[in-house]
Amino acid sequence: DLTHNIILYVEGVTVSFDGFRALNDLSLYVAPGELRCIIGPNGAGKTTMMDVITGKTRPDTGSVWFGQTLDLLTLGEPEIAQAGIGRKFQKPTVFSEHSVFENLELAMAGDKSVWKMLFARLTPEQLTRIDEVLETIGLKDHRSARAGSLSHGQKQWLEIGMLLMQDPALLLVDEPVAGMTPQETERTAELLTSLAGKHSVVVVEHDMNFVRSIARTVTVLHQGSVLAEGTIDEVQNDPKVIEVYLGE
Ligand code: ADP
Repeated sequence: DLTHNIILYVEGVTVSFDGFRALNDLSLYVAPGELRCIIGPNGAGKTTMMDVITGKTRPDTGSVWFGQTLDLLTLGEPEIAQAGIGRKFQKPTVFSEHSVFENLELAMAGDKSVWKMLFARLTPEQLTRIDEVLETIGLKDHRSARAGSLSHGQKQWLEIGMLLMQDPALLLVDEPVAGMTPQETERTAELLTSLAGKHSVVVVEHDMNFVRSIARTVTVLHQGSVLAEGTIDEVQNDPKVIEVYLGE
């Protein structure tokens, strides 16, 4: 029985849109502290899977558990986020007119009034936490910079930092290196690798070199279910996977 060491438990999930099965008996198990990459051709169901985990889409059948006790299918989107699942969409959504520091401050406030937060005096613990996150995301020297003035890569890191302010047990990250320079991509690999262990991280990514640089286990989705799972070398040499990618 492996369930004692699973933080995210997705089993037998099916999602239909007007009779079309976007997810078809999908099962996925993520261990605490794991860094998992999800790959698969367009339309494989990657986004729908993330939507199910975060409560945006309800499956027709199946189970989704967070840890051993939390049935995510009984919770709404805000409660799931509150429970410790942070999601980063592909497009960064930072508060452009605010500084890097203020963005982290606002993210710490969560759904509390942002204005109350901006005018409140931070506790020493909160200041320490913001400093830690600034260090983690490599933006210490940019704390006073306007978020809108950051590079694309820096905005992505800031947004990851904003998620970290809520200290999520599980981070879902959608195509983090899309549009990044090679240097930014390398820095992002370091960042995500450094988060694993403390957090479980599930990354959807197309860039196979990037996947190779970060993932221990790769899950390949195809037509709404798991086609293959293993190390990057195992899945890249899997005849089923080769066929699907050649057919794209
Ligand atoms: P991926 O993220 O792997 O590219 P998606 O999860 O976005 O795949 O989509 C899986 C399939 O489900 C696609 O064929 C897509 O067209 C379909 N789909 C996704 N969302 C909807 C929706 N809201 N209504 C109808 N079809 C959808």
